[in-house]
Amino acid sequence: MTTIVWFRHDLRTADNPALWQAARQGQILPVYIFDDTTPRPLGGASRWWLHHSLAALDESLGGLVLLRGDALDCLRTVIEDSGAERVYWNRCYEPEAISRDTIIKFELRAQGLEVASFNASLLHEPWEVQTLSGGPYKVYSPYWRAVRRLPKPKPLDGPKLENVSVPAMGDRLSDWDLLPRNPDWADGWDKVWTPSEAGAAARLDGFLSNGLEGYGTLRDRPDLENVSRLSPHLRFGEISPRQVWARTRFVADSDPRHQKDAEKFLSEITWREFSYHLLFHYPTLATENWRPAFDAYPWRESARELAAWQRGETGFPIVDAGMRELWHTGYMHNRVLMLTASFLVKHLRLHWRHGEAWFWDTLVDADMANNAAGWQWVAGSGADSSPYFRIFNPVAQGRKFDPDGSYVRRWCPELVDLDSSVIHAPFEASESQLDKAGVRLGQTYPRPIVNHAEARHKALSGYENVKLAKQNTAT
Ligand code: FAD
Repeated sequence: MTTIVWFRHDLRTADNPALWQAARQGQILPVYIFDDTTPRPLGGASRWWLHHSLAALDESLGGLVLLRGDALDCLRTVIEDSGAERVYWNRCYEPEAISRDTIIKFELRAQGLEVASFNASLLHEPWEVQTLSGGPYKVYSPYWRAVRRLPKPKPLDGPKLENVSVPAMGDRLSDWDLLPRNPDWADGWDKVWTPSEAGAAARLDGFLSNGLEGYGTLRDRPDLENVSRLSPHLRFGEISPRQVWARTRFVADSDPRHQKDAEKFLSEITWREFSYHLLFHYPTLATENWRPAFDAYPWRESARELAAWQRGETGFPIVDAGMRELWHTGYMHNRVLMLTASFLVKHLRLHWRHGEAWFWDTLVDADMANNAAGWQWVAGSGADSSPYFRIFNPVAQGRKFDPDGSYVRRWCPELVDLDSSVIHAPFEASESQLDKAGVRLGQTYPRPIVNHAEARHKALSGYENVKLAKQNTAT
């Protein structure tokens, strides 16, 4: 009997419950369906990743049927062609995916097929972690304490794959045109990333050997290599959080010096879970303010300032370096993500949806739950978010987290020779410092597009509207 395994956000063979269960039953027919007619098609950077990840999965499985279009129609075609009697998949948690999968389950079962879904992307299902009163968590710390206490299932080994059978049908990967051309803005990304299950395992091992020590404090330093860069691998399911948890615990338990850093790392992995928990329980998280009072915030519109932010031309080096790292690699360090996002919503007062959409297109780890939760956290409109009155000063933050400016020098090469004392504030440099470094403000590097103190003041006044809206709903 043949089981179709429908791969989605789980592009791996190990710890893949749908594949593992299918392997126990007989023949496996692996399928991936690309549907870019959905309300939120994949962004450009994610398409690049998907191409390479699918090529690697095809290689590991010894074949993969690629279909393009509506998922139910595609599954029906492959069922008819193959005579498969079962369809298994691992669950997705985006609201549109939940509705789609519910319909597909209903329709295929009505057709007499056995359909089953499993958890492969999360440590715990969003409905399994509940407050004492039985509802979802809205605050991270108690959520983390609850997750920490729950037993973690052991990751499954990769199944034997001798029963994979792939009929001659479907598309070639190259038909999907996922890679950028004219221009190839992802040129060189293959030197930064290895999208595949093997690449994910190597990334985790490398991090646990070389980056975990000191993670608790050094994870905030974009000039150092103390973060895992696992996010795109997790996003595409090339590695599971259960595998990450088990490997990290093993390393920490083998060497007590790592305990504290490992705890911090696992608590970050759990932020990802929390985002999924929120998206599942509040399905409008990606489109609406989680705190409705923020609907009253007086957002501005400025195509010019949005473009300056997107291109990394704001005149604030730490912000510009982050936005350029994103453009050149599809990734941005977490601390700088927070700074650039804060700059957009608080300094420029442009709606977080503009930023969310740009990150969706440009991040290789673009993920509906984490992206929306991240933006709402920064804007102050989300659950357990950063307080609205916390307005990062990009100069002070740059000096604190990139003390000698090496991160800025790497991504803003026009500032490479600027003295470290002014590298985060070229607009405060003397004429002679600028001359010596060959920097001409407004020509080789932009002047600041806003004044920090004024922007801060305006952002705080805008929040008065939110406070009023809150008071009005309370009365
Ligand atoms: P590490 O520090 O090594 O952390 C390990 C893992 O923990 C990450 O891979 C990630 O899965 C998880 N994690 C860490 N920090 C967070 C966090 N704050 N929220 C949720 N999970 C976290 N993450 C995405 O995966 N996709 C996104 O689209 C995304 N958009 C974001 C947008 C904004 C505005 C902000 C502030 C954050 C966003 N994040 C997003 C969360 C976070 O910045 C990234 O997960 C993290 O920077 C990834 O780098 P890393 O793997 O090196 O992190």
